[in-house]
Amino acid sequence: MLTNQKYSSKLCALAIDEAHVIKQWGTSTNNKLVAFRDCYSRLHEFRSLAPSVHMIALTATATKSTRDTIFAVLLMDNPCVIFESPNKDNIAYVVEYMSRDEDLEHYFSWLVEELREKKEHCDRTIIYCQTIKQCGLLYATLKAALGNDMRIGNGCTNNCLIEMLHSCTPSANKESIIKSFSEECGVIRVLIATIAFGMGVNCQAVSRVIHFGPAKNIESYAQETGRAGRSGSQAVAYLLYNGILLNHVEWDVKSYVRNDMCRRTTILKHFDEDASPHPVLHLCCDYCASKCECGSSDCGTLTMYPSKVPRKEPESKLRSRGVTNEQREAVLEKLTTYHKMLISNLVSTSAKTELKTLTGISLVLGFSELQIQQVLENLRNLFSLLDICKFVEIWDMMHAHKILSIIKEIFKDVQDNTCNVANAEYEIDDTGLLEDWETIIEDDELFAMAVENLSVSQLDESFTEQSANLSGASLDMSLLADVLDNI
Ligand SMILES: [Zn+2]
Ligand SMILES: [Zn+2]
Repeated sequence: MLTNQKYSSKLCALAIDEAHVIKQWGTSTNNKLVAFRDCYSRLHEFRSLAPSVHMIALTATATKSTRDTIFAVLLMDNPCVIFESPNKDNIAYVVEYMSRDEDLEHYFSWLVEELREKKEHCDRTIIYCQTIKQCGLLYATLKAALGNDMRIGNGCTNNCLIEMLHSCTPSANKESIIKSFSEECGVIRVLIATIAFGMGVNCQAVSRVIHFGPAKNIESYAQETGRAGRSGSQAVAYLLYNGILLNHVEWDVKSYVRNDMCRRTTILKHFDEDASPHPVLHLCCDYCASKCECGSSDCGTLTMYPSKVPRKEPESKLRSRGVTNEQREAVLEKLTTYHKMLISNLVSTSAKTELKTLTGISLVLGFSELQIQQVLENLRNLFSLLDICKFVEIWDMMHAHKILSIIKEIFKDVQDNTCNVANAEYEIDDTGLLEDWETIIEDDELFAMAVENLSVSQLDESFTEQSANLSGASLDMSLLADVLDNI
């Protein structure tokens, strides 16, 4: 045909598509084995039949050695090379192990929620499955979880947010799915597909690619994840795996999944690229993000599989109130009185055993000017024991109860059921308070003098032990731990 004058006069170029198969199938690395398609290595013979015609070779996945083989086989001497690096800076790579203890819904419930919330504005996602059966299972799972939210509007047929595409999809459906996916505003937001999808489709606005089970090899993985982020905006590639899903993939993917090293570097090394992590570690991959200490708001969360990202508490949950100067003063006065009461109580109950020193008194009591200061600074936000433990250094729940009861008295906006432990349990026993102490507490100067005048000589070494026992007895550590757990 090429020697026929009629045809050859109109021949403008010889194009070899998917040219990487020249190396894969046309050559043999083992001299004893014959190449699978030996004729591929003789494609250069076309040159003698059409000597003045240009030749072009195209491939999306060629390592350097594959490129060199292509040049050699096609007798391309110093060819013009148009090369695009396989490094996609705007894709972050994440690998997530799927536990046997969790069902499928667990790993996709975040997507269901997003679809329900954002509908046709949900971030566009491709979920790649290894088999048609897995496609069906995932489709059924999402459909069951979404119910009527699976579709937008009513009546018309092409309004489904999720579609499924594989080799058995009827061709009419296939066409409409591909059409929707090649338009930025197409209704389909989530496409569950086998790897058959993607050949020749120019996917628009895909910001997530999820592999439910790894791709067959790294070249395929690079190609499939490369369908995300084509507009240049930030995208993420998640790979979900477990032991079973790893069964039928090549060794390079197995090591990609299991190795504790930068995912991007692992992919790029495969293409003989000068491989280095993304300059911003938390935009690189889950491994690099774990080393990032930049502290920006998306640091760590971008590379966390969404089912693991803790849900943010809505801002409105943080209650606040207005505080007048009079109210602040009233709280200060009551807290100061309480502080003095604690000191006098300690002194009066310990006087018989003779105190050794008062230096550590605030430490022993777990209540001092520091706590008073913290209460005053955060008065706007203190409505419960939990709030108090959040904003004030509390070492003894007795003080938290007292602080709350003072706030309740002054502001009258604290609910009674803020804690299921009776306040009475934490009221300090002041019945044994000496009468003269009551007068001393009323008077600031007298109080300061009384504390100062406690003579060191009266104090006994035994106080150290006593105080340890005393503070130990009043500490309710288990309750404190409960409260802290709930923060
Ligand atoms: Zn990395
Ligand atoms: Zn960071």
